Amino acid sequence: MRKTNMPDDRMINRCVVLRRRPVGVPVADDFMITDAPLTKPAEGELTVRNRFISLDPGLRQRLSQVDSYVKLIDIGGLLTTTTLGEVIASRHSDYAVGDAVVGFNTISEYSTGAPGPMTRKVDLARTASPTNHLSVLGPTGMTAYFGMLDIGRPQAGETVLVSAASGAVGSVAGQIARIKGCRTVGIAGGAEKCRRLVEEFSFDAAIDYHGKDLAAITTAIREACPDGVDIFFDNVGGIQLDAALDCLNPGGRVALCGLIAQYNASEPPIMTNLFKLIAKSARIEGFLMSNYADRFTDALDEMAGWINDGRLVFREQFEDGLDNAVRGFLRLFDGSNAGKMIVRMPD
Ligand code: NDP
Repeated sequence: MRKTNMPDDRMINRCVVLRRRPVGVPVADDFMITDAPLTKPAEGELTVRNRFISLDPGLRQRLSQVDSYVKLIDIGGLLTTTTLGEVIASRHSDYAVGDAVVGFNTISEYSTGAPGPMTRKVDLARTASPTNHLSVLGPTGMTAYFGMLDIGRPQAGETVLVSAASGAVGSVAGQIARIKGCRTVGIAGGAEKCRRLVEEFSFDAAIDYHGKDLAAITTAIREACPDGVDIFFDNVGGIQLDAALDCLNPGGRVALCGLIAQYNASEPPIMTNLFKLIAKSARIEGFLMSNYADRFTDALDEMAGWINDGRLVFREQFEDGLDNAVRGFLRLFDGSNAGKMIVRMPD
């Protein structure tokens, strides 16, 4: 990465900020772009020029007054995310100007702050594209890896069901289960995504949930999983989770990764099959990818090996420039995204 100068007092930082709290599905007017003076790093801080910005559904949780593990973003506050950038100024002994870093950051041209527990230097020569450090060899891939292996604990021959399976996390989670010798079934919205599940991501079967109510999804899962479901890796919640609980085998596991169907909902979901967890002696367990930060290095080595030998494929999708960041974020909720959504900043 190119080295640039220490920020001076005249440097402007374009930022995406929260204009008002979204009600239901977010819309473009909930956000705006502002110019702010670029803050210089204090002792122990860095300034990073963001080159690639990850757009994640979890950001929705930080926009409204919800009970969440993440800090609520103030009105007028910068949207937070993970970025890959270049250190342009450092007052931290572990980071030098020119270092490439991935970390928890802001949707803006530059970010200044202290490196958090998820911040790490990355070797850009290691991957085919730097963006892989935000997708399959970044937080997305680590979510799939630890959620499937540590929470799901797949055994060869088991049946693994994945929701939002053609998405960034789901597609990788399903392939990890297949690598471990499982039969994999994915749920996705629409015929094209279902085709992709089987032809591109090597799922054994796909279920299109569009237009299906709880009974129809349950029937579709039973047809696609005639031996029942041993592991459900859930990115969606709502009726997909409810249906999957009905189809769990004794001793089944639910790795609760995300609840995207509920992020924009004003009413809590009605769950009718919770008793199945008791009846089947099954387990449901939520997890945070960040819990595993101290194990990322080994996981990344294993994932890189699977990519190199062709067993793990992935998709990335780009929006260009900060002006299109909000559009990319909104696409996570209308299903028009296909792969890890990343904003590519201009050189
Ligand atoms: P995706 O690439 O999967 O994009 C989101 C997808 O979710 C959409 O393409 C759409 O797929 C589906 N979707 C959107 N709205 C709905 C809805 N109302 N009902 C059903 N499906 C919907 O995103 P990610 O892979 O980045 O994230 C997937 C999940 O993982 C999210 O829930 C996210 O919050 C969670 N996550 C959890 C982490 C953790 O540490 N636990 C870390 C990172 C992510 P389709 O068209 O098929 O409906």
